[in-house]
Amino acid sequence: MASVFMPQVGGPMLVHFKSTVVLMQGRALAEFRMAAALGRALLFVLLASVALVCPSIASAAEPQKRVLIISSVDPNLPAIALMNQAIRATLKNALPARVAIYNEVQDEFQIPNDKYAAEMVRLLRRKYEGERIDVIIVLSSPALKFLLKYKDELFSNTPIVFLTEDQAEVGGLSLGSNVTGVWGRTALVPNLDLMLALHPETERVVVVSGSSPYDKFWMTKAQNDFRAYESKVRFTYLTDMTIQKLRQELASQPKKSVVLFISFMVDSAGNNFSLPEALSFVAPTSSAPIYAVAETQLGTGVVGGSVMSYGALGTSAAELALRILAGEKPQEIAPQGVPNVLMFDWRELRRWKIDEAQLPPGSIVRYRQFTVWRLYRWRIIGAMTLIALQALGIIWLLFTRAKRRQAEEAKKNLAAIVETSDDAILSKSLEGAITSWNAGAEKMFGYSATEIVGQDYSILAPHDLKGEVRENLERVSRGESMDHLETVRLSKEGVRIDVSLTISPIKNERGRIVGASSIARDITARKNAEVEALRQRAEMVHLSRVTMLGELSSSLAHELNQPLGAILRNTEAAELFLQDPSPDLEELRAIVQDIRNDDQRAGAVIDRMRSLLKRREVEHNLLDLNVLVSEVVGLVRPDANSRKVQLALEAVSSILLVRGDRVQLQQVLLNLLLNAMDAVNERPPDLRRVTVRTQPAGTLVEVTVSDTGHGIPPDKFARLFEPFFTTKANGMGMGLPISRRIMEAHFGSIRAENGSAGGATFHFTLPVAKEESAS
Ligand code: ADP
Repeated sequence: MASVFMPQVGGPMLVHFKSTVVLMQGRALAEFRMAAALGRALLFVLLASVALVCPSIASAAEPQKRVLIISSVDPNLPAIALMNQAIRATLKNALPARVAIYNEVQDEFQIPNDKYAAEMVRLLRRKYEGERIDVIIVLSSPALKFLLKYKDELFSNTPIVFLTEDQAEVGGLSLGSNVTGVWGRTALVPNLDLMLALHPETERVVVVSGSSPYDKFWMTKAQNDFRAYESKVRFTYLTDMTIQKLRQELASQPKKSVVLFISFMVDSAGNNFSLPEALSFVAPTSSAPIYAVAETQLGTGVVGGSVMSYGALGTSAAELALRILAGEKPQEIAPQGVPNVLMFDWRELRRWKIDEAQLPPGSIVRYRQFTVWRLYRWRIIGAMTLIALQALGIIWLLFTRAKRRQAEEAKKNLAAIVETSDDAILSKSLEGAITSWNAGAEKMFGYSATEIVGQDYSILAPHDLKGEVRENLERVSRGESMDHLETVRLSKEGVRIDVSLTISPIKNERGRIVGASSIARDITARKNAEVEALRQRAEMVHLSRVTMLGELSSSLAHELNQPLGAILRNTEAAELFLQDPSPDLEELRAIVQDIRNDDQRAGAVIDRMRSLLKRREVEHNLLDLNVLVSEVVGLVRPDANSRKVQLALEAVSSILLVRGDRVQLQQVLLNLLLNAMDAVNERPPDLRRVTVRTQPAGTLVEVTVSDTGHGIPPDKFARLFEPFFTTKANGMGMGLPISRRIMEAHFGSIRAENGSAGGATFHFTLPVAKEESAS
């Protein structure tokens, strides 16, 4: 306890105080400054108006009041200074410019001396002779005792207001009628309750006091007051030890201990201490939190507690003095206690991890250290936002620059592609004027860009296609595009170039069509290749036909031998008839007729052969497929007979009209029949069967050729229609691919499958043709 008073336990005391720092920061400080400025302004206005209205009031109407403050120790010590300041501020505030305050120190107890009191009384009497003192404020009990003793000699009727740390200090004094005052409270039990509430796990309470009688007085009081708590926690009373020993003790307290530091005036070695001095030495190394009983202990390393407030004591005493100055009698004012204040050190709360929210309501937390973030939060947020916005701006700029560069790069690339393309890339206005012309166009058509830009596009079209150019432009202006339009254009030299054109509209930023782009690819080579392929195909078809006819040699021989034999026999018969002197002319005429008929038959066979062998353009005539099939079957039959193959034709009776090339379709069927006969070759003669069927199938007509041969191995199916695929020693592997080509050219199809009873079946289908004229 930072005692500034001399309690009845007596004894010399040296008291030092650490001034209390009130930390006001940020908004609180600003508000305080504003309030102070406002207060000053109001006061000024008030005083000025009072002085104007009634100039004499301030000086003459109310007599000046004189207040004497007597204390027992150096008034510069912090606790005394705090009280003095509070007293002065309260008096000056209530009686501006009308109060005189005097100070006296009666510090006899510091250097006890018998003659001191008498000399002091003499001195004071001389000093205040003829002076009227309106009220005396006495700080501490030694001064009060002195004054009560010598009052009649010094200030006989002057009212006294005393101010003591505890009610106990005035307990044994006879105060008399002209005396009143205030006392504070050294809170022992309230602080113990507070400590246990904030540290519920506490097992040990350490109570500290020094070796002076005053220290021991409070230690004894604590032991008495805390007896009721001994069942809950253990108590250790540290007293009568040197300050070093105390420091060691406090530094080695077990966990779950708390300390109440109540008094430490003198240690066991006789060294004097103020509480702040003692605490500053022992508190920082303490292993347990320390609680305090006086306001001036705050800031020395203690957590805080229910403390006596010297400012509040001073203010309360001054308020009593003012009431007396206003005319109240001291005996009408009962001495009264001043409530303690709950005060804590923010830094120690953190050190001992005490949650601020756990503090009792109304607690004051001092020494709060605001983080930079708390102090300048909005400025930091503002600055960071600004920086973030700037950064975003920079990123955006960089991003758009990169994008622009990319776009420029892409444009350059595009331009390079256009310029180096082998295709002719050009643009033209909707009126047909050429507006751009790349190197590819220059190469393809032979005009340079300078030559042709501005000229009409139709210059590139052959005379017969000028209309097409106009039509294309019209379509583009309607928003249409044209892809792979195969047409012909003219070079500068007038050479026709086969081109594939892709024409698209060009739109301006507003989406309006302003022209057309045109990409022309030279397809002359492709066209030539196609023609060549066609030629080769025809060649192949022809060759395969020759081959097939070779295979049909026995059929041909048979067909020709028959009429030739008949002719020979008829000629021989005619010769016999002519040996007769009167030949039967009728008979002879009939023979000649037969010869003619046989000759015509042989001629027809040769014609058919010729027409099969002839290389001709593909024709698309209306044909009855049934007729065609029976012709081919007839052609093959002699061959089948000689190979002992039973060849059956199952044709529907109706006409099966198709449109196509007779010779090519014959060739397909011929090929299938020859393959079928090859396939059954290895079979015993009675099992060599080939059946040809015709039938309508919806919009199609189908012809199937089935055989009883070896069938097609499953792994060969995929390759069956590939050119040059053959399993035969003398095969060409061209029959089936040519047949497929022919069927495709006739919008038909051809496929193969194995029959369920063995052997293979080939199907080919053709679309039914509308009847016009069959050939
Ligand atoms: P090639 O008759 O000259 O071999 P193709 O293209 O006409 O050429 O026939 C290709 C192959 O298809 C034949 O070698 C044969 O292996 C197979 N093939 C064709 N027709 C039949 C069939 N009716 N039965 C079994 N295999 C067949």
